[in-house]
Amino acid sequence: MTVAMKQITLLGATGSIGVQTLEVIKQGTTPYQVFALSAHSNVSLMLQLCQQHAVRYAVMSDEASAQRLAELIKAEALATVVLAGKQALVEIATHPEVDTVMAAIVGSSGLAPTLAAVEAGKRVLLANKEALVMTGQLFMDAAKRAKAILLPIDSEHNAVFQCLPVAHLEQLPDPRIKHIYLTASGGPFLDRPLSALASVTPEQACAHPNWQMGKKISIDSATMMNKALEIIEAYWLFSLKSDQIKVVVHPQSIVHAMVEYQDGSILAQLGYPDMRTPIAHALAWPERIASGAPLLELFNQGGRLDFLPPDPYRFPVLALARAVLNTAGTASAIFNAANEVAVAEFLRGEIKFLDIPNVIAHTLEALPAQCSDNLDAIIAADHEARRIALNFTQRAMARSVL
Ligand code: NDP
Ligand code: MG
Repeated sequence: MTVAMKQITLLGATGSIGVQTLEVIKQGTTPYQVFALSAHSNVSLMLQLCQQHAVRYAVMSDEASAQRLAELIKAEALATVVLAGKQALVEIATHPEVDTVMAAIVGSSGLAPTLAAVEAGKRVLLANKEALVMTGQLFMDAAKRAKAILLPIDSEHNAVFQCLPVAHLEQLPDPRIKHIYLTASGGPFLDRPLSALASVTPEQACAHPNWQMGKKISIDSATMMNKALEIIEAYWLFSLKSDQIKVVVHPQSIVHAMVEYQDGSILAQLGYPDMRTPIAHALAWPERIASGAPLLELFNQGGRLDFLPPDPYRFPVLALARAVLNTAGTASAIFNAANEVAVAEFLRGEIKFLDIPNVIAHTLEALPAQCSDNLDAIIAADHEARRIALNFTQRAMARSVL
């Protein structure tokens, strides 16, 4: 029997999620043909990916990178068409021949093409949590209207999805669900005294104990901002109330999430911390395929799985996420934008690790949220939050009081 090939676009193909998605596709266990890839500026990796996957379109963020890639593509006699810019991202995400879009651009730059894919009714594999956090209700309404299928790639949300039978997914909010538990490794500094965190470097903060990820999400994991964004992500994806979403520190990263039902049953999804598992799950859903990830050896875990409550003093952004959910409107776009600025400034060596939550808290205080789900209001809040956050870091650096 021949299986009809599905066309997939990968936004953020050169990143950690993008490359692992292509690894799963390359195994040939899914009927996917790579229609289009996007990258920001990594021309050399993009060329390799085009060589390996007979790609129809490759999109780079700017003209200069696109020009360089086009010359290399020509020299290699490949058929890939090279495009540049934000509109081209929207075009490859919404092209009529495309069935599935992997949304794996990092941060708010992924919003426009991810939302466009949702509005076009595609099957959207959602890694770019920031797009959903920024737009919440608007994003979910668009998915409903266009009958887009949203498949979470974030390991915790993918795990929750796997613990919810399909019938439950069709009737969210589901009164049978009492709580969900999002597990958090605690990042590289879980056991360090708080006083020692003042001097940590970006390299130390990026060295996650269990997961190999891009820089931004690695810093987010160290501050627990990743879990804060994931609380908001779960709130929207699974129609939950804030107090139904619990965070549990689980240093082994073997249990990815749990769902507690009203009868007292807790369902969990387990596996090694390897993103190829949720990626393969979403690519194949509702089928199952081999992912390339090693199978879990239960007896190799030292006989234990630990679960601890998160320390609110060490991780103040968790409480900020709850406050943001209580405020609604543009608050979560402000929260996300301030964090993006703070992480970028920390990576540039401009602020200290412990300044990151201060920048976020200051920006939330300084910019009142608008009670609006309108995209223009959200984008305006994002821009204004960036201006305030950057201004705060620069002023504070000048006075060295951060
Ligand atoms: P990476 O930093 O590894 O990759 C980001 C990708 O986005 C790259 O292809 C990059 O291109 C591209 N990109 C960066 N900036 C821009 C921009 N301004 N415009 C267009 N494209 C851009 O990130 P990850 O793969 O780690 O993460 C991607 C998303 O998935 C994030 O939202 C993250 O939170 C989420 N996620 C990631 C997990 C992981 O294990 N990595 C786990 C769960 C969620 P270039 O290479 O050219 O810079
Ligand atoms: Mg996650």
